[in-house]
Amino acid sequence: MRPERVIGIDLGGTKILAGLVDRDGAIGRTHEIPTPAASEQAVLEALDEVVHAVHEDGVAAIGYGVPCNLDRVTGRALRATNLPLDDVDFVAHGRDRFGLPVGVENDANAAALAEWRLGAGRGVDNLVMLTLGTGVGGGIILDGRLYRGWAELGHVVVDAGGAPCQGNCHGRGHVEAVASGEAAERAARELWGDGADAHRLVTAAREGDSEALAALERLGSFLGAAIGSWVNIFDPEVVVVGGGFGRAAGELVLGPARESARREAIQPADGRLRIVESELGERGGLIGAGLVAFEALDGER
Ligand SMILES: [Zn+2]
Repeated sequence: MRPERVIGIDLGGTKILAGLVDRDGAIGRTHEIPTPAASEQAVLEALDEVVHAVHEDGVAAIGYGVPCNLDRVTGRALRATNLPLDDVDFVAHGRDRFGLPVGVENDANAAALAEWRLGAGRGVDNLVMLTLGTGVGGGIILDGRLYRGWAELGHVVVDAGGAPCQGNCHGRGHVEAVASGEAAERAARELWGDGADAHRLVTAAREGDSEALAALERLGSFLGAAIGSWVNIFDPEVVVVGGGFGRAAGELVLGPARESARREAIQPADGRLRIVESELGERGGLIGAGLVAFEALDGER
């Protein structure tokens, strides 16, 4: 018997990745294109294009992971920060085009679902997942279910009145402002001038540069303060950290984050807290979108 397969689509600010995904997370054929910035129509057409590119007989459902918050009642995708999307019904769109069950979820929530089912969070009932990229996203598993709320973990305050946040956010000192890849870029520019980037900061730190190490330690310490606060609310068995910058920096950020999270977390969570790197890495978003498709197929949503 052929394994049951769905199409997962990871819609990012710069690229769209689609692929065939099995129930066990195995990825078949994939197709990637740049994300058009022109209009909502152009984005929807690009999404249809990638579905056609990987589609094969027997595909059972489609799942979208999108960089938007979803309306919890209607499931419509609200405004995206970095894309021309505003109030889009992805479920109706995909169903009309392809006649298949369709699921949609915020991309960071989808990544959390994937790490919980198939990655670093297997077997636990409570998990917090963070994606450290240009911005900071997150998702929460609570009592063995994906929390369907916004989980805008990047926009909690760890430095009141601190650095201005990014994009449409008018807050200050949010995790995203002080512990993202963009914050690392800014730290690199402060050290070495225009043109320096987060990659250089991480490389210099690995080579023992004390200023680079201190910058990443400060960044990790802010991240840990936020993690400690989430631990005090959700008491997760594990906190999983992924995203492009998170993977690149690894223990350079997680080490200081662990120390500060243990300081902020109340007993006995402080002692048993686990902060680990994601296992699925950059495939997590695509696999998560696939799992969202299986949920739609199984009628779990
Ligand atoms: Zn913010």
